[in-house]
Amino acid sequence: MSRFIADLHTHSKYARACSPQLTLENMDAWARVKGVDILSTGDFTHPKWFEEIKAKLVPAREIFGSRASVNTEARLPAMYDGLYVLRPGLTPTVPPQISLPQKPTLFMLGTELACIYSQGAKKMRRVHHLIYAPTIEVAAQINAALTARGCKLGSDGRAIIGMNSKELLKIILEIDPRNVLIPAHAWTPWFAIFGSNSGFNSIAECFEELTPHIFAIETGLSSDPLMNWRVKELDQVALVSSADAHSLPNLGREATVFEGNMGDLSYDSIMQAIREAAPARLANSKLLIANSRFKMLGTIEFIPDEGRYHYDGHRACKVCLHPRETKKLGGICPKCKKAMTIGVLSRVEELANQPEGRRPEYCPQFWSLVELDKIIAEANGVKGRSSKSVEKVYWDLVAKAGTEANILLNMSYDELAAISPHQRFVEAIRRVREGRVKINPPGYDGEYGVVNIFNAEEKLEAKKQSRLL
Ligand SMILES: [Zn+2]
Ligand SMILES: [Zn+2]
Repeated sequence: MSRFIADLHTHSKYARACSPQLTLENMDAWARVKGVDILSTGDFTHPKWFEEIKAKLVPAREIFGSRASVNTEARLPAMYDGLYVLRPGLTPTVPPQISLPQKPTLFMLGTELACIYSQGAKKMRRVHHLIYAPTIEVAAQINAALTARGCKLGSDGRAIIGMNSKELLKIILEIDPRNVLIPAHAWTPWFAIFGSNSGFNSIAECFEELTPHIFAIETGLSSDPLMNWRVKELDQVALVSSADAHSLPNLGREATVFEGNMGDLSYDSIMQAIREAAPARLANSKLLIANSRFKMLGTIEFIPDEGRYHYDGHRACKVCLHPRETKKLGGICPKCKKAMTIGVLSRVEELANQPEGRRPEYCPQFWSLVELDKIIAEANGVKGRSSKSVEKVYWDLVAKAGTEANILLNMSYDELAAISPHQRFVEAIRRVREGRVKINPPGYDGEYGVVNIFNAEEKLEAKKQSRLL
């Protein structure tokens, strides 16, 4: 049994506000550093990026061997079907500062589309969806079908299309029933299925009779499974997480974790595992208890308060409010007197029909983590994760540990002490793992929340020592 970490929401250099360093070579290299085993290609709908995908990726089977290890008993598809790897010989332009783990990153065909349309009392809807395809050939068919309907796929890696969500789902399912649509960052205010500004109140309101085809939603950085489990309807779907990284260092900051035999790994087995991870399905089949097959183990999460839309407020006015306060003010900013951006916590409260802290009887687990460079910065009383000194320590630790995920999730405290003599570093990891982290202020209106692992006094002490790990 192995564990596989998947980040299934990525973007290319062709997507708005995304780094020019997001190439397949660099993504492959940085996923290895992060400990991410499976990446979405992102943006396969973009013509230029799709050309790169076709030129640079080859079926993983060609590299790893034949169909010999098909698990016929479980009737799972051939090993690595629908998964791709970088063509041998291609090298990153932004090489990580350590020698890379040997295992190449597996890629799956994925993209994000922004649907803008009106539905219900002429209300404008702006909803982002993740689309997955089992092969490059099927992805090409999706691109052709959308282009034939007038969608301008070359305008952005995350193409904006004037098509409603249901129609999009219908089109991709008609092309191949193995295609998958997962609503992206489901709760964010501006571009999400449940968003406060242009979203819906349920999956069914959005997809109507096609609702049974939606078997998962992406929870986004500003919500975690506990928040989603407050809405009973969501027991019908799996809760997945991905990074939605706009730059290399953010790859894998949220992710979905699978467990199973290497021989069972394929596009179909990943999708099947997600499908089966809905609490309502688990309650029926108790699949999570049977540990003999490929399954979704859970998700790696931000502490939701750190996400950019957790609280309500106005960034320009520096007003950040808990939903309780927002209610008192009628949603109006006390400074500029305009309507505030209503965040994820407010929206969850609005749709919640279950008590706080409710956990379905059968459900995947989740790990609330903080990225390693932020932990290093905190442990040293340094402001900002991107300082040179933090970077140096980061590469030193990852070189010793193999991957970032190994440090955050797997290594024992003794092992951590062996790679860093600094007591404060081990203590920081311990606090993160035990959930003893304060996010203050929380994220709101596009601003990330601020991670505090140590209190002001402890930080002052760290500064006095002015010694990096
Ligand atoms: Zn999006
Ligand atoms: Zn304001």
